[in-house]
Amino acid sequence: MNSLRKKSLERLFDKSPRIFQNDKKYSELFASNVFTINVLEQYVSKDTFNKLLQSVNKGSKINRSYADQIAASIKAWALSKGATHYTHWFQPLTGGTAEKHDAFFDLQTSGKSMESFDGSQLAQQEPDASSFPSGGIRNTFEARGYTAWDPTSPAFIFGKTLCIPTIFVSYTGEVLDYKTPLLKSIQSLDNAATEICKLFDKNVVKVNATLGWEQEYFLIDRAIAASRSDLIITGRTLFGHQPSKGQQLDDHYFGSIPPRVINYMQELEFEAMQLGIPLKTRHNEVAPGQFELAPIFEEANLSVDHNSLLMDLMNKIATKHDFIVLFHEKPFEGINGSGKHNNWSLSTNKGVNLLSPGKTPMSNLQFLTFFINTIAAVQSHEGLMRASIASSSNDNRLGSNEAPPSIISVFIGKQLSSVLDDLENVSKGKLSPEEKTDLKLNVIGKIPEILLDNTDRNRTSPFAFTGNKFEFRAVGSKSNCAKSITVLNAAVAQQLQKFGKEVEALIEKKDMKKDDAIFNALRDNLKGIKNILFEGDGYSELWKKEAVKRGLSYIQNTPEALKAYVSKKSIALFEQMNVLSEREVKARYMVDLKEYTMRIQIESRTLGDIARNHIIPTGIKYQNVLIQNVKGLKEIYGEDYYKFADVQIKIIERISGHIEEINKGIVKMIETRKKINEIEDEFYKASSYCKKVLPFLTDIRYHCDKLELVVDDDLWPLAKYRELLFCR
Ligand code: ADP
Ligand code: MG
Repeated sequence: MNSLRKKSLERLFDKSPRIFQNDKKYSELFASNVFTINVLEQYVSKDTFNKLLQSVNKGSKINRSYADQIAASIKAWALSKGATHYTHWFQPLTGGTAEKHDAFFDLQTSGKSMESFDGSQLAQQEPDASSFPSGGIRNTFEARGYTAWDPTSPAFIFGKTLCIPTIFVSYTGEVLDYKTPLLKSIQSLDNAATEICKLFDKNVVKVNATLGWEQEYFLIDRAIAASRSDLIITGRTLFGHQPSKGQQLDDHYFGSIPPRVINYMQELEFEAMQLGIPLKTRHNEVAPGQFELAPIFEEANLSVDHNSLLMDLMNKIATKHDFIVLFHEKPFEGINGSGKHNNWSLSTNKGVNLLSPGKTPMSNLQFLTFFINTIAAVQSHEGLMRASIASSSNDNRLGSNEAPPSIISVFIGKQLSSVLDDLENVSKGKLSPEEKTDLKLNVIGKIPEILLDNTDRNRTSPFAFTGNKFEFRAVGSKSNCAKSITVLNAAVAQQLQKFGKEVEALIEKKDMKKDDAIFNALRDNLKGIKNILFEGDGYSELWKKEAVKRGLSYIQNTPEALKAYVSKKSIALFEQMNVLSEREVKARYMVDLKEYTMRIQIESRTLGDIARNHIIPTGIKYQNVLIQNVKGLKEIYGEDYYKFADVQIKIIERISGHIEEINKGIVKMIETRKKINEIEDEFYKASSYCKKVLPFLTDIRYHCDKLELVVDDDLWPLAKYRELLFCR
């Protein structure tokens, strides 16, 4: 057998798995490596403590002397925990996280050494920005970038390093990361939602967006994966015939978790708990080798940080257990891919979930207000929502029979649909007392009961209401949650602002009472949202046709989808909500287009290399074995040999046929790439990669996978699907 593949299989069966044991309760471990508000309170004066609280709650600035005090306390805490280094931890547009470690250790002029860290080091660092994507914002001659402390996400210790969550901006103040626009969208949403809440409760002063993600992933044995450079380099298999058993028996979902995986999960949870990531749920997913975990939801900024941090942690712990984690949306052809479900809601400073119906008609009216306005926001920016989940890897998953299509629609269930129908029939203008009573008692009064038995769940919807939150399910497993949540926050903020003005106008100009005005404004908004509501099977062909008829965008590739970022409407949204400037949006569009092009380019090169260096030579090797066999038969049987060599000769010919096709494909693919690389326009280049290069990947793979079926298993160099998916 080919050496690498053989060695890896031998190793797998030789080694005993790492056992992880922990006898501490998670409640004891939780956040023990986080500089929480409670820890800070023990270290600083009441005055400094209140300043930080104010900054966290209201976004107010912290002056240098307070920053120094906070820095001193963080330093004391970090050193007491054995930290040696600190870093500003940020999320550049690569989608991952970035860190540059500096030692606390310093030398004074006297030559004496000490541990130093002050307010300025806490507040700001200057990493070289030139190696991070900027979409043209950062001139090469001005490479400086700044990271600046985000006091709303607490510092934590990872290994021996104190990590300080920060935003990342260019020297000229333009945004270079995912966190800054997210924070701005959270702020706009807070402002707009708080205003609307005041219609119902004057005491609300703050509204937080909440996020609880569900993360799907694959765990693959590290040694077995080592023979698959396609998997290592691109995150997905570019070859591989489907195994005779895949997921057709549905025997993996919620099945018992394999012992080696449980050990991994336990160690992961042990570490995650200390970092304050409140992991709650773990289970097998649909595909063999696929798993999911989910935390308790948190304020959106913290939750986004925790998702990025956890993905990093998952990789690190996996190494200890001889696994690799695949976050790619579609690592295996013909096997379910992975997504990230972003559960999203709004919560007031009083802890009221605004998307959860309450006990009184008024609180239900408040629920309906946020519910309808969220749907209206999605309707209004469906193209941008689609753009926010677009990536070359998610293109492989969306629209297969396992994930929502690349059409944004909203599922709300039968009962709530009928509530909306009733609301639509409310007469215009002031409501009669009878009508109001009827509405309050029989329509909105019944909502909590409706939701209690809301078993109505549609798994095929990309954006579904699930009783007390919306669940955005089309998000890619690999992507940074901030991308889609920023768009959602901004869209809802804009819609709430608009709604607030409508209510105000009805009160002032039409002399309506507040609740009449709210009913009227809601009813008027209902017409606009009909288009995006869909209760049926999102995977069906019928829906695709229907959606196009409705005028919803149905865009199946990333370059086309990304265009929505730079539409007039989207730019206006980002600018009005103070999330990104036009220049920043356009830069982001460029970053995404370039990333798309590079990813397809890398896949295409990797495929070409493996096909030429591994697969064609293997085909020839086996062909030679057969040729020897045929020659031997000829020696024994003379002219009658063909009676015995018929099958062998056919295989020899088939191998030649496939090799020829593979080689032709590679030659043409390289020529095509060369031509496309000359194109300067980034959109045109990305879309050419999509339309002209991607099809070669499918064609060449077809012939390689056919060869896998004919060639002697002992000779095949790449770990097979059955080994990747089932050996652990
Ligand atoms: P499911 O049946 O979809 O698994 P769960 O109630 O278990 O539903 O929640 C799934 C995810 O939704 C979890 O990550 C959880 O934290 C999150 N979630 C629950 N409530 C909220 C909320 N109010 N805001 C945001 N996320 C939430
Ligand atoms: Mg869910």
